[in-house]
Amino acid sequence: MADNEAELPPREAMEFDVVIVGAGPAGLATAIRLRQLAAEQEHDLSVVVLEKGSEVGAHILSGAVIDPVGLDTLIPDWKEKGAPLETPVTKDTFIYLGPAGEIRLPNFMMPPLMNNHGNYIASLGNVCRWLGEQAAEMGVEIYPGFAAAEVLYDDNGAVVGVATGDMGISKDGQPNANFTRGVEIRGRYTVIAEGARGSLAKQLIRNFKLDGLSEPQKYGIGIKELWEVKPEKHQPGLVQHTLGWPLDDKTGGGSFLYHYGDNLVSVGFVVHLNYENPYLSPYEEFQRFKTHPAIKDVFEGGKRIAYGARAITEGGWQSIPQLAFPGGVLVGCSAGFVNVPRIKGSHNAILSGVHAAESIYAAVKADRAHDRLEDYEAAVRSGPIAKDLKPVRNAKPMLARFGTRLGTALSGFDMWMNTIIPGVGLGYTLRHGKPDHAGLGRARDYQPIAYPKPDGVLTFDRLTNVSFSGTNHEEDQPAHLKVIDMALQVESELGAFDGPSNRYCPAGVYEWVDDGAGAKRLQINAQNCVHCKTCDIKDPNQNINWTVPEGSGGPTYPGM
Ligand SMILES: Cc1cc2nc3c(=O)[nH]c(=O)nc-3n(C[C@H](O)[C@H](O)[C@H](O)COP(=O)(O)OP(=O)(O)OC[C@H]3O[C@@H](n4cnc5c(N)ncnc54)[C@H](O)[C@@H]3O)c2cc1C
Ligand code: SF4
Repeated sequence: MADNEAELPPREAMEFDVVIVGAGPAGLATAIRLRQLAAEQEHDLSVVVLEKGSEVGAHILSGAVIDPVGLDTLIPDWKEKGAPLETPVTKDTFIYLGPAGEIRLPNFMMPPLMNNHGNYIASLGNVCRWLGEQAAEMGVEIYPGFAAAEVLYDDNGAVVGVATGDMGISKDGQPNANFTRGVEIRGRYTVIAEGARGSLAKQLIRNFKLDGLSEPQKYGIGIKELWEVKPEKHQPGLVQHTLGWPLDDKTGGGSFLYHYGDNLVSVGFVVHLNYENPYLSPYEEFQRFKTHPAIKDVFEGGKRIAYGARAITEGGWQSIPQLAFPGGVLVGCSAGFVNVPRIKGSHNAILSGVHAAESIYAAVKADRAHDRLEDYEAAVRSGPIAKDLKPVRNAKPMLARFGTRLGTALSGFDMWMNTIIPGVGLGYTLRHGKPDHAGLGRARDYQPIAYPKPDGVLTFDRLTNVSFSGTNHEEDQPAHLKVIDMALQVESELGAFDGPSNRYCPAGVYEWVDDGAGAKRLQINAQNCVHCKTCDIKDPNQNINWTVPEGSGGPTYPGM
């Protein structure tokens, strides 16, 4: 938004029946189901999807082992239609790592819901590209390169659409020669499908107090590399998860390694963002993990072909906010439907889109607009999403309370009990307590961690890796990372916590540098930002606000 907003020409407005923000699995499923229903009833219903990435899939980063239950519901003939889910899971391993050794947990000990047979290893970005094609063929209007920057409200406070950001605003906040005014995209209903920690979702949750009755949302940061490995190291269909080293027992997280496609291995590391030590660097922990004797062999002779990072929601059942507000709904990870022990959310993202579409379609048919879609909320809370999330709701709080070893054992027992007698387990729901940012400890209580230097073969420095994310932002624009109060950032983030932004950001965006007068200033290299949203979540004072940059800015993930 330009500084002199009042002097700018008015925005043009476009009207649709349904406006969807975000072309991830949740947004695209909503769009497809809406057009399916309209086609069944020979009813014309206009649906638009806005996507901030330069193309559908450009900003999607996931594992991904995909439970096809969502696709089976949305597009039952997805196989015949060529969905890119080509590698079925053939082997599932779960390993606890120590500094030099490992313990393989036998599969019979794992609760059945953790079993990955019947699932597929794929690139969720490519699945979204395919879903985008299906949606476009069905008449959905998809606008990649358009970031929704603002929520539009009517006089009664109901949401009536969104506005895309102005383009061509210089660093100094003034319009430049490329200036183009943003557009108002108005609809009867607005669907927020921005994924984890959406910037509009955050405002809507606050404005409508949607989280008033739920536990705080919890998050992890997932950092991922895509490798092409030597054919003799590739085991198509192998799914491997680890817990333990290099994290200590009270820091939650673990790794995933999925073999799929043409000698591809998707390797990633998730660190739960409730970690306490301000000196911890999730990025460096990931790099260290790859050097473990039980892990490194698979990468020998291979090459890293892509890199990226993204926050993942981890609060589960008890953190789901109210889903409907006047004029719209939250779907997918904007609400937070990830099943944490299964590390899966894309199936529920699709299912929530299907529920939302069915509720919206009935409302539009009844000539309603801008009201609260209570039946969507009810469908999520009583349908397959609830069935998936409720039995595992205590896993994350148990890890947080008891540490990785005991927490995993207790949550495994709880999940087994739930399997044997559904609804038993602990019998009650554990709370998460504080939000992730509030868990960060003061620097004075911790020692800096000496991470090994990257070797450039198996381990890499952050900036080299960022160059494999295809990240690009127009340089001459105001930073989209807004530090609300810089004095507080200096006094607290630097003074009390010793600058953790420099370590939690997986793209080297934040640097505390000498200001030339004996003090330090925060340098924000916004052009490197991969849109993971970690700073918005983990800044200890909630003093950093992630806002959308100009449309198309950010990563260009090839197939993450
Ligand atoms: C490291 C990692 C591993 C994972 N592994 C798995 C797995 O193995 N299996 C699984 O099922 N799930 C996995 N998940 C979870 C899964 O990726 C999510 O549950 C799923 O992507 C959520 O879908 P979504 O549509 O809600 O959001 P997203 O997939 O995040 O899509 C949101 C889209 O909205 C766009 N957008 C956001 N804000 C705006 C805006 N203001 N304007 C315009 N566009 C906007 C984004 O660019 C993006 O394209 C993993 C997640 C991570 C981070
Ligand atoms: S600046 Fe924030 S959103 Fe961007 S990459 Fe760094 S931590 Fe992630």
